[in-house]
Amino acid sequence: MLTYEHLSFWEKRTYLEQLDAVIIGSGIVGMACAIHLKKAKPHLKILLLERGYLPTGASTKNAGFACFGSPSELQDDLNNLPEQTVWDTLAMRYEGLQKLFELVPKRCIGYERCGSWDLMHEPLDSDFIAYLNQHVARITGQTQVYQADSLKIRRSGIQGFTTAYKNRSEGSLHTDLLIQSLHQLCIQRGIHLLFGTEVLSLEIGNSSNRVITAFGSIESERIALCTNALARKFFPLEVEPARAQVLVTSPLPDLKIKGTFHFDAGYYYFRNVHDRVLFGGGRNTAFEAENTASMHPTDGLQNHLESILRTNILPNQTFSIAYRWAGTMGVGPAKSPIVKTVAPGVAVGVRMGGMGVAMGALVGEKLSKLMQ
Ligand SMILES: Cc1cc2nc3c(=O)[nH]c(=O)nc-3n(C[C@H](O)[C@H](O)[C@H](O)COP(=O)(O)OP(=O)(O)OC[C@H]3O[C@@H](n4cnc5c(N)ncnc54)[C@H](O)[C@@H]3O)c2cc1C
Repeated sequence: MLTYEHLSFWEKRTYLEQLDAVIIGSGIVGMACAIHLKKAKPHLKILLLERGYLPTGASTKNAGFACFGSPSELQDDLNNLPEQTVWDTLAMRYEGLQKLFELVPKRCIGYERCGSWDLMHEPLDSDFIAYLNQHVARITGQTQVYQADSLKIRRSGIQGFTTAYKNRSEGSLHTDLLIQSLHQLCIQRGIHLLFGTEVLSLEIGNSSNRVITAFGSIESERIALCTNALARKFFPLEVEPARAQVLVTSPLPDLKIKGTFHFDAGYYYFRNVHDRVLFGGGRNTAFEAENTASMHPTDGLQNHLESILRTNILPNQTFSIAYRWAGTMGVGPAKSPIVKTVAPGVAVGVRMGGMGVAMGALVGEKLSKLMQ
């Protein structure tokens, strides 16, 4: 192993010396934080460290839903959380999406305002939908966001659901294009990135801090921790890993599924990706087993997803499962993210739950302000 000690003058000077900020984790939050920090303070020398040979967190493994709240998810949240918290979280997701589009133009990340449909077995009370529309209009400025649209079920060939509510303001994006766009922005802004570099510990000092890796240690005045579910390794934060599993079908000719769909309070989600279907979720059937940072899909949950896919989403169709994977979300007792300073010169932006596509750019920006 080539340790830092044996690097050349050029290598040390480029990557490791006179750093103003080290950002740990190259997901949406880490990259957004680096880009905003560099924009605010162009003279800062910033290094982004990533443990994987590519970004190995939720940001490259998610479903690409650009969403801020489905009726059944909001209903579930309203039953379990203070009302104000529910609207604050929705507002943060909505604002986060606007921040994301400011950072990376919609056309560069394959964004489509395709709408989303929340599938159910029973209609919701129309007063409840009116109440949702009233609050969402206050937050987003858009009226009649939620509307009953059960025809979509028949048009999509879906079985086992009777009612659907459309959210006309949600959409989808291409996760790969998003991460590539952020990476390109980092490079364009002169932010240095090192992959395959796991941070083992941090040493907090009086005038400077140190980041300890297997290759050696790196000194930096400022450190941002953007390791999402894995942040508890460094500080006693209320965040823990939750595995989320996904599959993608082979291409389907004449695919009728178009747009993004959720059911069971957002615990299940599917969408088309060109002529394939991406389907994920089901964590609520095995909370304890899925409370893990393992990124390996399991037969039990994958078979469960495949069975729903074949019975309800794509009944009577011939296809195979072309991709299966699992990613790690950072969850906790609250649905809101943790963005705060935890030690002199050290700030964290973690606990994005299943909403980091929506909130990540905003959290990255907030975190960058703590680093200035
Ligand atoms: C399957 C799945 C589907 C999802 N679908 C959606 C969706 O449709 N819409 C939505 O809004 N959200 C979705 N999410 C959630 C969203 O992807 C996350 O909330 C978001 O990507 C989190 O971004 P992040 O930058 O905080 O963390 P991450 O992307 O997890 O990044 C953390 C990075 O830190 C690195 N790291 C960790 N420890 C260390 C260390 N010690 N040293 C160096 N590097 C380290 C990791 O390798 C990783 O790259 C989904 C998540 C999953 C898993």
